[in-house]
Amino acid sequence: MISQEMYELGSKRSVIREIFEFGKRRASEVGAENVYDFSLGNPNAPAPAAVKEALLALLNEEDSVAVHGYTSAQGDAEVRQAIADYLNGLYSTAYRADQLYMTVGAAASLSVSMKAVAEAGDEVIAFAPYFPEYKVFVEATGASLVVVPPKTDDFQIEFGAFERLITPKTKAVLVNTPNNPTGVVYSRETVDRLCALLKKKESEYGHAIYLITDEPYREIVYDDAEVPWFPSLYANTLVCYSYSKSLSVPGERIGYVLVPEEVEEAEKVYAAVCGAGRALGYVCAPSLFQKAIARCLGQTADLSVYRTNRDTLYRALGEYGFECVLPEGAFYLFVKALEADANAFCERAQRHDLLFVPGDGFGCPGYVRISYCVRPDTVRRSLPAFAKLAEEYRTAVK
Ligand code: PLP
Repeated sequence: MISQEMYELGSKRSVIREIFEFGKRRASEVGAENVYDFSLGNPNAPAPAAVKEALLALLNEEDSVAVHGYTSAQGDAEVRQAIADYLNGLYSTAYRADQLYMTVGAAASLSVSMKAVAEAGDEVIAFAPYFPEYKVFVEATGASLVVVPPKTDDFQIEFGAFERLITPKTKAVLVNTPNNPTGVVYSRETVDRLCALLKKKESEYGHAIYLITDEPYREIVYDDAEVPWFPSLYANTLVCYSYSKSLSVPGERIGYVLVPEEVEEAEKVYAAVCGAGRALGYVCAPSLFQKAIARCLGQTADLSVYRTNRDTLYRALGEYGFECVLPEGAFYLFVKALEADANAFCERAQRHDLLFVPGDGFGCPGYVRISYCVRPDTVRRSLPAFAKLAEEYRTAVK
């Protein structure tokens, strides 16, 4: 016998996968340039030259055992110190190497952090719409995911529902700002209210409620939107970072977990993070890429392409009658479907070779996610298809 739970997880074909397969089929029929694939969050801005330079230099300068060998489980000490120094420069903090744990991207940062703090019987809260893998990572710890319904007028937090859903079983709360799939950045008011509420609940229940911040889009922000540094606002924060999107290296799998000193029993929590990495079989994050990112701190891909795409799409979609909250970060638009069933809407869009992802998987039916991490040329050429789609619904309603 095998694990039924793992079998189901592995054999269920994801909606995104189905869309991807459809896109490939259509590309072979009509040409890839005529398929407007807005389904994946795979960054299209090239990685900065610094990444290639760092890799080549490492391969040429360092001896191969040092470059390709195992690092310590928590990551190379010099790399972790370099990241700590970089963060200290940004946030006027005093982080140390021994508070950082290098990971295989944000997915691993999250799964390790959740496994470190949660176990069977616990609850972990996320805000809809949320990254679908949260459910998988939370349930792998034996805990359950509790979802706060979406606040669809601005995709900030529905505080009434949130407060009702916090219970003595709440072990952690997951936040993702800038957000996938809405592109929304939490306002200062939201952030302050969130931290104040969690502090109140911590003292009411007499135990820590960890704030796990999922931050792969930290650097991708527009219009001077401010991304909070949660550890300076809430003591029990675990930061889950990834270089996937900022450096456009998602396939290289590199990120970290930061356990600041302010976290209650921080050393124990850090040890639990290391234990979780061990239990999950991570061994260590990729050695070459640990060393490469240490040479690229503060660099990003040229992210201006996302802003161009956001502006083009947001303006045009508004003109065609689509409803959407202006995204201030990441590279997603979360658009209200033109019929109640977002899956049916996506199928209709596919007839125009427009590929989106229904919001159902993000816990927010009736909406679709449009990933605009594509070439600006693709966005521009797709606009007539958006116009036709909107027109089709207008005429159907008449
Ligand atoms: N969290 C969010 C919100 C994401 O959008 C993604 C990837 O798209 C991840 C986590 C996983 O990122 P990584 O590729 O660094 O594992």
